[in-house]
Amino acid sequence: MVSDGTLTPEALAARARANGVQLWALTDHDEISGQHRAAAAAHALGMDYLTGVEISVTFINTTVHIVGLGFDADDARLAQGLAATRGGRGERAREIAGQLARVGIPGAYEGALCYVGNPALISRTHFARYLVDTGVCRDMGEVFRKYLTEGKPGFVPHYWAELRDAVRWIREAGGMAVIAHPARYRFTANEEYALFSEFRQHGGQGVEVVTGSHSSAEYRIYADMAQEFGLAASRGSDFHSPNESHTDLGTLPDLPAQLTPVWDLLAHRILHAPQGLAAA
Ligand code: AMP
Ligand code: MN
Repeated sequence: MVSDGTLTPEALAARARANGVQLWALTDHDEISGQHRAAAAAHALGMDYLTGVEISVTFINTTVHIVGLGFDADDARLAQGLAATRGGRGERAREIAGQLARVGIPGAYEGALCYVGNPALISRTHFARYLVDTGVCRDMGEVFRKYLTEGKPGFVPHYWAELRDAVRWIREAGGMAVIAHPARYRFTANEEYALFSEFRQHGGQGVEVVTGSHSSAEYRIYADMAQEFGLAASRGSDFHSPNESHTDLGTLPDLPAQLTPVWDLLAHRILHAPQGLAAA
């Protein structure tokens, strides 16, 4: 729990292992302080590990997530870039709370803070948990629909990292950049084309095809996009919490056969579990 998930890196590793995962990456938002713990926990369970992160980027006025995989977790420039990206979260959270107070929901900043594990990373998810637990909404989806998305009273636009910078930080730290859950952005065809082509020009190499945030029809669409743009394909649960996430770790279907999995291109970056444990 170093961004907005509810489980510790160790608990996530155990859950992944129990579900049959062989190669795992923890991808906190804008934060890599859990990486060494996650790798150690994976290795203790006989699971291979790839370093991971999910960087918040603003592209055409939309928040887009760029996953980084297989980077050096001690890279100073990546750490600096992430620190700068996290920087505005505290102020944004106070503005979200101010706007919620104006529509009759007081105390949301202090309320959300109670759910925050890492004070640098207060996120909309923490507000959503507070509003559900205080009975303002029935579930997280309702909070986002009614309060926290564009056009709604608690939405505060925020300028995250540049696409170019996020891809560069990841690459210069030895990793691969991957577009996370592209169907979530609701881009027009032209906007999506711009995202994929600029991402490639900046050196991005992968796209999430199979994810907890996509329907099976969307698996097909983004399998075709991966081939059209010559991108490797990734698979990720987007798991945040046993109570909130509909897709558990290790339960997604395989990638479509014709695609190149990101882990094939990242073979040299995989942190292998010590010999002998994997069969345990
Ligand atoms: P933030 O980085 O503070 O903007 O918050 C992003 C988090 O909000 C991510 O973890 C998303 O999974 C979560 N999120 C965004 N939209 C929704 C939604 N409609 N329902 C539930 N969670 C959402
Ligand atoms: Mn999240």
